[in-house]
Amino acid sequence: MRTVNLSSGSKGNCTYIESSQARVLIDDGLSYINLKQRLSQIGVEPSSIDAILLTHEHTDHLGGINSFLKKNKNAKVYIPAFAKDFCISSIMELPQSQIVWFTTSDFFIKDITISCFVLPHDSKFCVGYSLYFSQRKVSIATDLGYISDDIINCLAGSNILYLESNHDEHLLMKNPKYPMKTKKRILSNKGHLSNNACAHALARLIPSGVVQVVLSHLSEENNTPNLAYSTIKSILQDYGIVEGKNVFVDVAYQNKIGTIFNL
Ligand SMILES: [Zn+2]
Ligand SMILES: [Zn+2]
Repeated sequence: MRTVNLSSGSKGNCTYIESSQARVLIDDGLSYINLKQRLSQIGVEPSSIDAILLTHEHTDHLGGINSFLKKNKNAKVYIPAFAKDFCISSIMELPQSQIVWFTTSDFFIKDITISCFVLPHDSKFCVGYSLYFSQRKVSIATDLGYISDDIINCLAGSNILYLESNHDEHLLMKNPKYPMKTKKRILSNKGHLSNNACAHALARLIPSGVVQVVLSHLSEENNTPNLAYSTIKSILQDYGIVEGKNVFVDVAYQNKIGTIFNL
């Protein structure tokens, strides 16, 4: 299995995962030119992508999918069937013959088994995914206001975990550009996961076998890669978990591809 984040943050999200037979994107919020350029850095042609798994309808996750599907007729986008009820215009505009409305939480794309779980977020629907291949598990959970016990159970044992570490609460509260309404939305149970919340969730997940974490969907306004990393490292230390020994913490970026993991 090989995985790499191609872009992460409020301006566009996309993560690439491949097995021996399948090539999958989680979300595509990038322009086609941008996506193509980033895929070329890992030697992947867009036409070889089998599927895009959509997490939710926000533009930073969905914005590139229409043009991708129109240029790559063999690719499919996987969307949970219950999302159909909301008649979301940006989804209804996608080429309908290329949508797979999946009805069960577990399904397959070639040799990858996929498991889908619901996340609390201020969208019509929002899900995370775990992908299994050859006794390896890669999970992704971004755009969630809090982590429930159910979500912890879904993420447990992931070899690689892309987990949201969106903001530092103090930077967010001090940010003069954000109206109070927006701050409350981000901090709410249907907003985004803070560095602190991410760290405490990781302290529960690392004993389950999670060894590689990629901090994801960092706010460019209310966070920095260094701040997210140092906050998480320090909170984990309070739990007796040492970064670089018990767990490895990496960061996903908005403007460049992240670390390529082979597992
Ligand atoms: Zn987002
Ligand atoms: Zn969102």
